[in-house]
Amino acid sequence: MTPDLHSRHRAALPDWLALYYADPIELTHGEGRHVWDAEGKKYLDFFGGILTTMTAHALPEVTKAVAEQAGRVIHSSTLYLNRPMVELAERIAQVSGIPDARVFFTTSGTEANDAALLLATAYRRSNQVLAMRNSYHGRSFSAVGITGNRGWSPTSLSPLQTLYVHGGVRGRGPYAHLSDAEFTDACVADLRDMLGQTRGDVAALIAEPVQGVGGFTSPPDGLYARFREILQEHGILWITDEVQTGWGRTGDHFWGWQAHAQSGPPDILTFAKGIANGMSVGGVVARAEVMNCLDANSISTFGGSPITMAAGLANLSYLLEHDLQGNARRVGGLLIERLRAIAAHAPGVREVRGRGLMIGVELANPATGEAAPDAATAVLEACRTAGLLIGKGGGHDTSVLRIAPPLTLTVAEAEEGATILDRALREFS
Ligand code: PMP
Repeated sequence: MTPDLHSRHRAALPDWLALYYADPIELTHGEGRHVWDAEGKKYLDFFGGILTTMTAHALPEVTKAVAEQAGRVIHSSTLYLNRPMVELAERIAQVSGIPDARVFFTTSGTEANDAALLLATAYRRSNQVLAMRNSYHGRSFSAVGITGNRGWSPTSLSPLQTLYVHGGVRGRGPYAHLSDAEFTDACVADLRDMLGQTRGDVAALIAEPVQGVGGFTSPPDGLYARFREILQEHGILWITDEVQTGWGRTGDHFWGWQAHAQSGPPDILTFAKGIANGMSVGGVVARAEVMNCLDANSISTFGGSPITMAAGLANLSYLLEHDLQGNARRVGGLLIERLRAIAAHAPGVREVRGRGLMIGVELANPATGEAAPDAATAVLEACRTAGLLIGKGGGHDTSVLRIAPPLTLTVAEAEEGATILDRALREFS
């Protein structure tokens, strides 16, 4: 579509920077749940909601807040008092579910997880960390050190000692056919085994409540509550990575951890991506005792910048005032039902899963049951041609279609996207 820009991108940027589509798209503008490319083609956006655009493209309330703040002051440094930063911290502390919560702002999910690891390792005086198989937590040196999805973890030279436990994904091995209760028991036994090996010298367990990059896979509800009971026996912290699952996306809950709330809230929560609707805001929430364990000054030049904080405040207010969690539950519920009906006639669909507006469609070869990454790529391309953007994910074989629209998605738009997916799945799966 824009071959000149594509070849310039290839020449100027690293080879390992992933790009979607054989002929990548240059986005030029967006509105609501739609985006347009440089040739004027319009797409219904079924993926941008989880990347950056939590509520809607060009949401007027956010645009206005950003413009007004830009006209006032954008000088950014945590060395000075900053009203939007304090106000957003107060609101996030309030909705976090963590008692006596403090908030530290970063500029990305990677940096949020990095800060969470800094806190947990300092608090516990241990560099051993438990992470989940098939996880994704970012691309910094420490974040790749806790990323179990090898396709996104380019080095194993991390200074952290990481042990990977079962629970985030069932995979195709011995866990595949267990009931939820059997799977939970098996994962709890695996965790106990790991802890036995470490003699409890572990800083934290970090987990995505629903694995995002890993293909929108959820453990049985309550699994992390069982884990937490065991972790608490040793004083080990529970870090929940809510970068994809936060802010009501899963419909039933405001945070993904709330599906595992029986043993209380997590010790540390990380967030990023859509909170400021595309402006770079990430952060860490922790109870004061954990947040304040660092024994040196720190500063962030861009974390908490007034302009991104103003965007976050406007976006979060919109989300809460318009009950977008409720919308995710209602419209997402209808979309999952519709996709399950489509899957019943598409032999290449292994499973439709998800919660709210976080829906995965896993493809497999109907003859062999093997993962079908080529079919996933073909469906992605066919949807794009038909004017629908979706995502891809999964383990190294990447055969899960990922659907995560902005949270204002309407029933009519859900139906429109499902119709396009139906045609593409019939053709290629
Ligand atoms: N955690 C999770 C669960 C993510 O999905 C991502 C991004 N895909 C990150 C962390 C890293 O966020 P960022 O790209 O903003 O660094």
